[in-house]
Amino acid sequence: MTALPLCSISVDVDTLRFYHDIHGLPSPSPHQADAIYTHAMPRILRMFRNLGIRGTFFIIGEDAHVPAHQEILHQIIEEGHEIANHTYHHPYRLTALSPAQMEEEIAQAEEILQPFLKEGQRIVGFRSPGYNTTPELLQILRDRGYLYDSSVFPSSPYYLAKASVMGIMQLLGRPSRALLGSPKVLRAPYHPYKPAGNPYVPAKSPKEDDLWQLPIAVVPGLQLPLIGTYLILYPELLLKAMLQWALKIYPFFNLELHAIDFFDAYNDPGASALIPHQHDLRVSLTRKLARMEDSFTQIQKSHICLPLAEVLSSMPQLAPPPKS
Ligand SMILES: [Zn+2]
Repeated sequence: MTALPLCSISVDVDTLRFYHDIHGLPSPSPHQADAIYTHAMPRILRMFRNLGIRGTFFIIGEDAHVPAHQEILHQIIEEGHEIANHTYHHPYRLTALSPAQMEEEIAQAEEILQPFLKEGQRIVGFRSPGYNTTPELLQILRDRGYLYDSSVFPSSPYYLAKASVMGIMQLLGRPSRALLGSPKVLRAPYHPYKPAGNPYVPAKSPKEDDLWQLPIAVVPGLQLPLIGTYLILYPELLLKAMLQWALKIYPFFNLELHAIDFFDAYNDPGASALIPHQHDLRVSLTRKLARMEDSFTQIQKSHICLPLAEVLSSMPQLAPPPKS
């Protein structure tokens, strides 16, 4: 068992059509090869290989039908990373569906993703689109034998920004497809825990074999987001200082990226319509790659990076016991 602090770098492989959807723009078909897979993913895999990082990739089931995407899915497994479930259609309103519909989203993704795994492997991790979760969703994951969920993002600036954008879109008569989710998330622990009935509260006497909740890292105290988009956007010195502070606090650091963080919107195909809508897409690829590499190297000085499924065996040592 590892004594050193651990980190997981996970990547939500959301294809460009979801960003078009968010901004109310016409989107490409789900059955076309997407530049997130053909252009951004090879860059991520190369950087992980060069730095000796093995991570977790949250894959949308529907995307696994496209041959150009399948090559990347095979490569993910060949290179020792984990594939985890990000639903079949990536519905932003997943938690507003009926339990049967939610389970269908999870089961369909499992079915299409399982053949990419090695013999004896199975999908054990889940992340919900838009970071929303409910007791019903967690129960479906438990019933299907999942070992962890990583959908909790306790960042108040992120939550408030999402609420304001949704409010503005509503006023403009273009209601967002997103779901705001419960504000209780803002009181969720930063450290891994086994949830009680309320998904944001640790169980007082957690069962040995229950599902872990692995919250996504934020800057402790301030709750500023520390996900890939902000690694790109924060001023460099501030980012280094915040990372250093967070790494001191977290014995397990759960860094979430999106594959679009490695995208070159000016030269890669398919995203020019998104550029006016997203600040991060106006940052040059050279700067993005440098930010990612510098941040990963900083993390690796104190933490060992492993896929989320592989950190679970060390959790009893890394997660503080729930407060009674
Ligand atoms: Zn997603």
